Amino acid sequence: MTSILTVPQPIVFFGGTFDPVHFGHVAVAHAALTELEPKSLIVLPAGNPYQRGRAPFASAQHRVEMLRLGLGLGLDPVNAINAVDANGNIRIDERELKREGATYTFDTLTEIRAEFGNAHPFFWLIGSDAFAKLDTWHRWRDLFKLTNFAVIMRAGTDSSPEWGVEFSAEIRSRETTSDQPVPNAGVWISLKTLPPPISSTAVRAALANHESIRAMVPLSVCDYIDKHHLYRFA
Ligand code: ATP
Repeated sequence: MTSILTVPQPIVFFGGTFDPVHFGHVAVAHAALTELEPKSLIVLPAGNPYQRGRAPFASAQHRVEMLRLGLGLGLDPVNAINAVDANGNIRIDERELKREGATYTFDTLTEIRAEFGNAHPFFWLIGSDAFAKLDTWHRWRDLFKLTNFAVIMRAGTDSSPEWGVEFSAEIRSRETTSDQPVPNAGVWISLKTLPPPISSTAVRAALANHESIRAMVPLSVCDYIDKHHLYRFA
């Protein structure tokens, strides 16, 4: 697979609730590593995603532990060979879990850009379902001053949603392709990988119905959910 033309290497961010992490997320992380060849992939579990109107079902600590297991972080090199993070390029950043109140991506990226300076392009990884609603995000236009976006297809979601005129014009003007040099911020590209059509909602629903989640979630995460009796709805 050809990788994107970026010197220096980008830093890639993957935000989500991960309630719990599933093979769709694993495929997204893998796609970012192979297609963007980043210096690092920083996973940002959300604290209190303001658009959901409810807290995540599992605690922050459980969600982080499941992410570690699901992405194969911190394994010794022999066991890490088949893990997504075989080269140790992924890390979890818990800053959004520690923040009081609503979690805004704008605040997170402002903080991180100040820490990294302008030496590297940023990519915010995002599914096409979430990207189609970017105009509902806090200060969404200003996000393009801080980062680029890498959009990955979410199977089963509308590939040509009805965007408003203004949003559509803004998004279309910012689209670029992976053979173009990438600025530090301001554009978006499509990744080529198509992750499996899995959602955390479907995983939780299967657990509520006492169905197997083995096809949806890495085995280590299945075992963790079992052991800690997570998502056992009455
Ligand atoms: P829920 O079902 O609880 O809403 P989710 O499965 O959408 O959860 P999130 O943690 O909210 O998972 O997703 C984080 C990010 O990963 C979002 O940008 C989302 O679009 C993307 N994503 C999640 N699952 C997939 C998938 N199967 N294919 C492509 N993108 C995905």
